[in-house]
Amino acid sequence: MNIEPHNLRFYGIRDIDKIPQLQKMSPSDRRAMKVVASVLPFRTNSYVVEELIDWSKVPDDPMFRLTFPQMGMLEREHFDLMGRALDANIDAHKRKELANQIRLAMNPHPAGQKSANVPMLDDEPVAGVQRKYRETCLVFPSQGQTCHAYCTFCFRWPQFVGMDDMKFATDEARRFADFIRREKSLTDVLITGGDPLVMRTKNVASYIERFLEPGFEHIQTIRIGTKSVSYWPHRFVTDRDADDLLRLFEKVINAGKHLAIMGHYNHWVELDTPVAREAVRRIRSTGANIRTQSPLIRGINDHSDVWVKMWDMQVNQGCIPYYMFVERDTGARHYFEVPLVRAYEIFQDAIQRVSGLGRTARGPSMSAFPGKVVVDGITEVGGEKVFVLSFMQARDPDWTKRPFFAKFDPTATWLDKLKPAFGEDAFFFEKDLDAMSRRRPPELLKVASGPNGAVLH
Ligand SMILES: *Cc1c(COP(=O)(O)O)cnc(C)c1O
Ligand code: SF4
Repeated sequence: MNIEPHNLRFYGIRDIDKIPQLQKMSPSDRRAMKVVASVLPFRTNSYVVEELIDWSKVPDDPMFRLTFPQMGMLEREHFDLMGRALDANIDAHKRKELANQIRLAMNPHPAGQKSANVPMLDDEPVAGVQRKYRETCLVFPSQGQTCHAYCTFCFRWPQFVGMDDMKFATDEARRFADFIRREKSLTDVLITGGDPLVMRTKNVASYIERFLEPGFEHIQTIRIGTKSVSYWPHRFVTDRDADDLLRLFEKVINAGKHLAIMGHYNHWVELDTPVAREAVRRIRSTGANIRTQSPLIRGINDHSDVWVKMWDMQVNQGCIPYYMFVERDTGARHYFEVPLVRAYEIFQDAIQRVSGLGRTARGPSMSAFPGKVVVDGITEVGGEKVFVLSFMQARDPDWTKRPFFAKFDPTATWLDKLKPAFGEDAFFFEKDLDAMSRRRPPELLKVASGPNGAVLH
């Protein structure tokens, strides 16, 4: 298929008065965008603006909501504070101070996850690695900590506004590779970000090729978490080093490893442009698989029809639906979150309407401190209405797939809002979890904060 190159331009807060499509909006709507973008990260690009957003449906268009700031993302009080500051034209330093003050009130680092997943090598924390589960560790390449556009709901937002320093990412010494070589219980390495595919191919290769060398036989699968298949599919098609990237994928496969592209898609629109289809086709032609995942976001994909169509299109294009996540407890969460009961209903309604090949999707899953907790159902036991829950992944692998029960709560949006059912005073895993936290070596508390212990892509 012949795809024309696209001249990629990035847009940020300074472009709000320049993006032609925005000029139809009222000045006060554009002011609201600038107010929000002064606190939360805003970045989009010309492909998203020109090919994914349906401007006749703005402001309700899901792709618009995915990258453009919206007034409701800030609490009213914060919005007014920043709005008055912008109107008064306060200096950049004061504006930044105010922005940081508001950001700190938005739970930038949920539930003690700053350092709990950083592993140790020779009694020193390993920069750029997180390991929460036995089989899989995450690697955060230092040059891959940004994205082709920013999702409004992203839980890594503190990093994009410069609140988290980059000490978290891999260091020059690249001790992460030594760590992975020695840890024979690992089978999967997940290269993540940000979006590691903002890096040029030669940098991507410098991370991946080492895992093909002797000493890494235990690493069976290399995963790359990316949103590029949606925000910049030209990365795989017309970019100058697109072909080199595909050759790199082939090299991984020829070395006898599995390569899984963990594609972040929130809506079927992202799969429906010619270049997006071509990107998927080209990736798959290398022998790599694409597994897809997304959080459930109010105003973007909180309807089962969206998921049915998205999963059907993914299966049709040869992708494998993987996770539906529950929106995390940080940032503009109040604006995007969906109650667990609603998340479960959407999942249950969608999954019954796709073929078995689409039912590889699992969820709705909360990446919480103890592990990935899935809402398996809502039922009544001995007259009490309960959520049926289980771990898909757990800090202690033995917790996996043991059903447990929480009191039904129609407003709960996260695990920490749930209470054990049947009058019990704790969930079965809580005592072990406490003991585990007490065993954490104190050195870890010195490690810089960073992307906090869960993976979206
Ligand atoms: C989800 C996740 C993984 C991978 O889990 P899988 O179920 O194997 O996809 C690894 N590490 C962290 C921290 C995660 O959140
Ligand atoms: S959700 Fe992923 S693609 Fe979106 S901004 Fe966050 S890290 Fe980037």
